[in-house]
Amino acid sequence: MDSEGAAVVTCNTCAMFVILAKHIENYTCSKCKLVALLEEKVQQLETRISKQQQIKELELFLDRAD
Ligand SMILES: [Zn+2]
Repeated sequence: MDSEGAAVVTCNTCAMFVILAKHIENYTCSKCKLVALLEEKVQQLETRISKQQQIKELELFLDRAD
């Protein structure tokens, strides 16, 4: 049976099938979009943490220099 207005679309990241109103090229499901967003946030936090670590090490170095 061919159902109009429904398409089985595969997420190009996790290969999960979803039923959508129409076919979308390069579809990424909401979970994968969320994961991508979280990965970006984690990356930002890691950068921030490493910067703070560097500042802390510099402060300790300067404390010892006194
Ligand atoms: Zn996905």
